[in-house]
Amino acid sequence: MTPPRVCTLESADSAEALLERYDPGHGTWGYPKKERFWDAVSVAHSLERWGQGVRLAVIDGSFDVAVPSLARQMRVHRPAPTPAAVAHGTAVALLASEVAPQAELLLYEVCDPSGTPVYDEVCRAIEAAVDDGAHIISLSLGSHVPYRTDADLHGGVASAFFSGEPNPRAVEDCPLCRAAEAAHEKGVTVVAAAGNSRDFVLCPARSSAVMGCGFQTGTHQVRPTDDGGSTTEAGADLPTRQSRRVDFTLEQADGLLGTSFATPLIGAFLALLNDRSELPAFLASLNQASAASFAEVLIPSGMMELATVRTLYEQAAGLHPHRHATGDGPCPACSLFGEVLYANYGRFLLNTHQTAAAESLLRIAVEVAPRSPNVIANLAATLWHGSADAPPPERTARLQQAVALYRRALEYTSAPERQATYRTALAHIEALLPPGTTPQ
Ligand SMILES: [Zn+2]
Ligand SMILES: [Zn+2]
Repeated sequence: MTPPRVCTLESADSAEALLERYDPGHGTWGYPKKERFWDAVSVAHSLERWGQGVRLAVIDGSFDVAVPSLARQMRVHRPAPTPAAVAHGTAVALLASEVAPQAELLLYEVCDPSGTPVYDEVCRAIEAAVDDGAHIISLSLGSHVPYRTDADLHGGVASAFFSGEPNPRAVEDCPLCRAAEAAHEKGVTVVAAAGNSRDFVLCPARSSAVMGCGFQTGTHQVRPTDDGGSTTEAGADLPTRQSRRVDFTLEQADGLLGTSFATPLIGAFLALLNDRSELPAFLASLNQASAASFAEVLIPSGMMELATVRTLYEQAAGLHPHRHATGDGPCPACSLFGEVLYANYGRFLLNTHQTAAAESLLRIAVEVAPRSPNVIANLAATLWHGSADAPPPERTARLQQAVALYRRALEYTSAPERQATYRTALAHIEALLPPGTTPQ
């Protein structure tokens, strides 16, 4: 059976509401930019990485190219013969522009006047983007192929998660996935919306050569620990996810509903990286670190061996594509894709009484991901734990550092329950400090 060649724009309904939050005069958005993704973007921007030299293709409905930031960044614009509504495409392109304001935008309009993507036009636009020199292609659309139930068929699920390679067992009759895979084979990174449902992944997001992007609702799942550290669970299979088989999810910001909007944000973030070829290894490491974190929760009940969890963390660390040492400074890629590994492995080492190993890992982690409250709080908790056996002057110094770190963690989190944990920890430590001591 040949699949129906029909595409949909994801989240078309919420584009208008989203655009209402955009101020074209100032080029700014009125939605909250907290949590890991925007922290990582800030880290990249602080290193003067704005996407310069990168061509980012956005394939969507029509675009309002009179909006100043789009006009400024546009390199190619291929308008549809009969334009469709501009809200979705414009919102998507502007989100990309905010993350990578110096990337060159290649804009391809593929919708009919009713706003429905024309399947063959989408395939042609992918080819055109490759010809036009795109480095990254972002597709906030896809084709729903509901009757493919065999998880191994067609790529994109379980073992065929994004690997940077087409799935050799993929079926031959999907021109959309084929077009995306051909782009990938020419060195182009393709990101695509996974779709706004738990139960299916759109083509081409399901191709293992394409990074399927989604949102998870709420702030990402963080388990505060009673000593003011935290573990974080992104990348794992959470019940609140929009789509279960997604390569990477962002925390859902209020009013920013839908995988359509996750996709250009992630695509544009890739324009800020030094080396996009590391992406498959980052995602493999993240998946393994998330698996380790989930397994770790099961240790107290006896359902999981500590040694197994240790092995999972060690494997996650082994999959991580590059190593950092003290003095390396911030790393945008590790801030986004490595935070779960750094924060949770550090926490695990502390929990298993390897305090020195925890401290050395977390000291590197706070340099690499300087705005991650999870990493910062876990280093603070480690210094606090490690202060107990230290001689008095060193003990005071460690506690002072912990106080400074908890204060910094408070700056970078908006979640009330985490703020409360950090404040409680601060009160405990301040009570341990000799009178008159000020934090470092
Ligand atoms: Zn397909
Ligand atoms: Zn790094």
